[in-house]
Amino acid sequence: TSAESVLIAQQSQDELYKVLHRNKSSAEQIVVVVSVSPQSRASLAAHFGLSTSDATSKLTAFFKNIGVHHVFDTGFSRAFSLLESQKEFVERYQRKEQDKKALPMLTSACPGWICYAEKTHGDFILPYISTTRSPQQVMGSLVKGYFAEQQNLTPKQIYHVTVMPCFDKKLEASRTDFIMKDTDTREVDCVITSGEVLKMLEQEGLSLNDVDPAPLDTLFSSVNGDELLRHAGSSSGGYLHHVYAHAAKQLFGVEVNDITYKTLKNKDFQEVTLEKDGTVFLRFAAAYGFRNIQNLVQKLKRGKSPYDFVEVMACPSGCVNGGGQLKPLPEKSNKELLQQVEDLYNAENTRLPEEEDRVTHLYRTWLHNVGEERARELLHTRYHGVEKVSNGLTVKW
Ligand code: SF4
Repeated sequence: TSAESVLIAQQSQDELYKVLHRNKSSAEQIVVVVSVSPQSRASLAAHFGLSTSDATSKLTAFFKNIGVHHVFDTGFSRAFSLLESQKEFVERYQRKEQDKKALPMLTSACPGWICYAEKTHGDFILPYISTTRSPQQVMGSLVKGYFAEQQNLTPKQIYHVTVMPCFDKKLEASRTDFIMKDTDTREVDCVITSGEVLKMLEQEGLSLNDVDPAPLDTLFSSVNGDELLRHAGSSSGGYLHHVYAHAAKQLFGVEVNDITYKTLKNKDFQEVTLEKDGTVFLRFAAAYGFRNIQNLVQKLKRGKSPYDFVEVMACPSGCVNGGGQLKPLPEKSNKELLQQVEDLYNAENTRLPEEEDRVTHLYRTWLHNVGEERARELLHTRYHGVEKVSNGLTVKW
């Protein structure tokens, strides 16, 4: 819609530059925080022929050199999204007999899919969608909540920017659900895409190769340099992988080490089942791209969906292939570039979210345990059906 176009236009590298310039000429400083997604660093690494860790440290230095105060990794906040999704799935599974819309649980980290679901299928589809926030919006909560507290700052004194593979993340950041009620500030003030970071480098007359590296920051003052955090599974966050392994263990006592996916109609529609002696205990799927999403929704409407959980992503091949990623150089095809970005993304070490000490520490001290009331308030959200009226669209709250 035109309102959405305005919101998208308001969030760009130009907005970030305005804040940085204001900081240079004013005594009153806004603390600028940039959180970089793993998919964006893989895209920039591929473009400049770097490893992802080199791209990350050079990107950190680039942002610091232009006046950014702290640079974080959204792989860290994704650990919270995965843990909350695991817990949410087990709860939904346990109430599936009483609540016919508890399953399948559909993931919610993709704003392209959420916009489509709200506008096109409204009240019917919303109960199926996971309430867990995306890694971007968990990072919003951590930066404007936990980090602000640690630094003795108010949320208004922080300008929080995320670097994402996707333009739709700008819309997500603008949702009223992610405005902190007491201070009237956005948890994520501005989203810039991987491609817009390239434009910033060009504007500064720089290649990432020429920038001297600097260590990534951490949300914890006691840890020097945040380690990159990637999770196993798809390049869209690995939701299916983690929720499946957790549910198999928690609900059926089955330890899953390796997951074998079965490709259905096309490579963007895959499923995995947990079965024993011909009985299927869990059936999970990944549905990427609108063709597969429409198929899934039609099945749901006809009461014919066999799934307990679906990782839904609007882009074919998922977030590594998002619309905000860098385009191939003339000598490379789209396919070759996508493969390279996927390889770089997968080359990072993976870690189980529950084994990450810093995450456990935050749950204990700040959130008071997975899925408990405070975690629910800070790490979950809600969705809104859209009602069509004669002169356009009206949001139902
Ligand atoms: Fe954005 Fe595409 Fe990823 Fe969805 S799948 S979050 S639209 S990049």
